[in-house]
Amino acid sequence: MALPHITIFATGGTIAGSASSNTQTTGYKPGAIGIQSLIDAVPAITDVAIVTGVQVTNFRSTEITSPILLEICQGINTALESDECQGVVITHGTDTLEETAFFLSLTLRSPKPVVLVGAMRPATAISADGPINLLQAVTLAACKEATGRGPLIVLNDRISSGYYTTKTSASALDTFKAPEQGHLGYFDNNKPKFFYTPALPVGLQYFDVTSKTDLPQVDIVYGYQGLNPNIILEHIKLGAKGIILATMGNGGWTVAGMEVVDRVIKDGIVVVYSHRSQDGTVSLAKDISISSGLLRPEKSRILLQLALSAGYTSEKIKSMFEI
Ligand code: ASP
Repeated sequence: MALPHITIFATGGTIAGSASSNTQTTGYKPGAIGIQSLIDAVPAITDVAIVTGVQVTNFRSTEITSPILLEICQGINTALESDECQGVVITHGTDTLEETAFFLSLTLRSPKPVVLVGAMRPATAISADGPINLLQAVTLAACKEATGRGPLIVLNDRISSGYYTTKTSASALDTFKAPEQGHLGYFDNNKPKFFYTPALPVGLQYFDVTSKTDLPQVDIVYGYQGLNPNIILEHIKLGAKGIILATMGNGGWTVAGMEVVDRVIKDGIVVVYSHRSQDGTVSLAKDISISSGLLRPEKSRILLQLALSAGYTSEKIKSMFEI
């Protein structure tokens, strides 16, 4: 049987990282190795798919910006439009992988498999996790059962939702989790196994970004004891069109800070209340006009960027976050 064609979009990260010794697992250079070398290092890939590598960027994922996300999305859309391409893999740094996965969940419409993959140990380390992760990602992208599930994340033998998953540990290999929603599946001897039939997240929005080259600036302001209430004004001076509050608990913000928030809302800035806690929701209340619901600040930021870019009113944005 002919092998499926898979396109790998490479962006860098630890999976392409190089260190001076094979015991070094921090302080290395992420995004040092090209995609063809990563593919060549895993000959077993040729047993599961015919792969084509596209080097989009090669640096650590802290450097990914909205224009790069748009370029990746448009590249994937073009690749998936061809009958030949059965699925796509994106190699990515784990630090902001969840943001790219969430963005793609909102902007890709093709039911074909899209799999994001990274690594926690550089390619030069003993027991590097990148090669097996890459093999599993290509295998998953080539697998019919992965269709219609939105973008997926593969790491440490687990398959997770690109919409819900978050990096829960700054250093452990089993970092990608969605504590409330769980994993979607796992690998058994390089065979992907799913716990559930295909489903998409409840209330998933779709944004057409075909002709976009950038998105509006939305900043996250983190809440803590002794917060400077005026910090939001500085973000607005620096160009923010929307603000996400990483609130304390269920929408907690300081009294003085709330007064500033109310003022900027009257001036037309959209402010969304999210939470600095890993899970849970912010409930709507008299003084909380827009709640991010389940979404953490970094995902809320992307959703608000897309909504502002689409020209949504604050009423529409509010109902969009409420789903
Ligand atoms: N430490 C990161 C990683 O795991 C580096 C990055 O996000 O690019 O890939």
